[in-house]
Amino acid sequence: MRVLWFCIPAYGHTNPTIEVVRELVRRGSEVRYYSFEEFRERIEGAGAQFVACDPFLPPVDARAERRLRRVSTTEMSVQSFRTVANLEPVVSADVASWHPDVVVSDSACFWGKLAAAKHGLPWVCSTTTFAFNEHSSKYMSHSASELADLVLGLPRLNREIRKLRPLGYHVKSVLDIVRNKPDDDTIVYTSRTFQPCSETFDEGHYRFVGPSVRDVASKEKVGRPLVYASLGTVINDHPGFYRTLIDALRDTDVDLLISCGKAFDPAQLGELPGNVRVEQYVDQMEVLSQASLFVTHCGMNSASEGMWMGVPELLFPLTGEQRAVAKRVAEDERLIEGSTRMRDDLRSCVGPAGAADFIEQVARRHMGA
Ligand code: UDP
Repeated sequence: MRVLWFCIPAYGHTNPTIEVVRELVRRGSEVRYYSFEEFRERIEGAGAQFVACDPFLPPVDARAERRLRRVSTTEMSVQSFRTVANLEPVVSADVASWHPDVVVSDSACFWGKLAAAKHGLPWVCSTTTFAFNEHSSKYMSHSASELADLVLGLPRLNREIRKLRPLGYHVKSVLDIVRNKPDDDTIVYTSRTFQPCSETFDEGHYRFVGPSVRDVASKEKVGRPLVYASLGTVINDHPGFYRTLIDALRDTDVDLLISCGKAFDPAQLGELPGNVRVEQYVDQMEVLSQASLFVTHCGMNSASEGMWMGVPELLFPLTGEQRAVAKRVAEDERLIEGSTRMRDDLRSCVGPAGAADFIEQVARRHMGA
């Protein structure tokens, strides 16, 4: 079977797909994965062919750069629509010559979803946060500035959408492209229990496969407790947050490890107390196997990894999506007993093998087999 996979340049959206790709390849499928150089190694390591999309990202001026840093949904969508247009000739030629059986694309990766629609190929949506329909989206509380960005950005987005029509891409609206529809075949990397309003998602089309993590055995806690803090890999330029943690834990019997992200220079934090270490990137699963507390921004992957390892979480969400995850974590696991319960629930999911089964089923349904 030939699987054409698309993802955006983000760890949180790429990491969960890797074990699924590895499983498909192990079963004999060919996977061609459109991604970005930063992820080449882990994608090729899983056995897929890698296609670099870096040259097709649109140029970003200073104004757009500022908006992206503020995580403007409008700006990200504008950039995504332009990427669709830039990649169009490459993807169309590839589809014509390689004949994929099925397209899998991240829920936020417009160029994958639109390519599948344009070429009439079966499509599986890979959703690394919650599945969002009109019910579960009520979990997302937008701040006033997030709402203003969405509303004021509509005319700009509609202009970009109109430019795609001559290329064979017909998009009704941004909402139309980002929202999960009832019969979209969708993999969600969490459990049915953790997904809000899960009863509103059809069993046949939505497969809640659980987190796709590289499992690491929990270590016996000896010596000083370890507090691990991370704001994830996207929005982590928050020196004030790091300083507050450092000040709170200096001169205590607790060790603090902060992963501050590659865009933040740890030197900004000045001299650190002896019990504090700041790294730009760590092996998070390995660290969680030793941690007593996880201070997390509630990216879906981080929150799931903490629960998978049974580590209590202190929640510090920064965006609407993260607030939705935080709300769910708070409902399900306020205490250690809670995180242990979620741990069993997440570990009982079908995992990457179940995700691979689902992708194969969708492709076969289209082949008429
Ligand atoms: N991650 C990691 N090391 C780090 C920071 C993050 O391995 O130092 C991984 C983490 O395990 C998770 C992903 O990067 O799988 C971050 O995804 P998440 O959805 O939590 O947040 P995002 O970065 O997308 O905001």
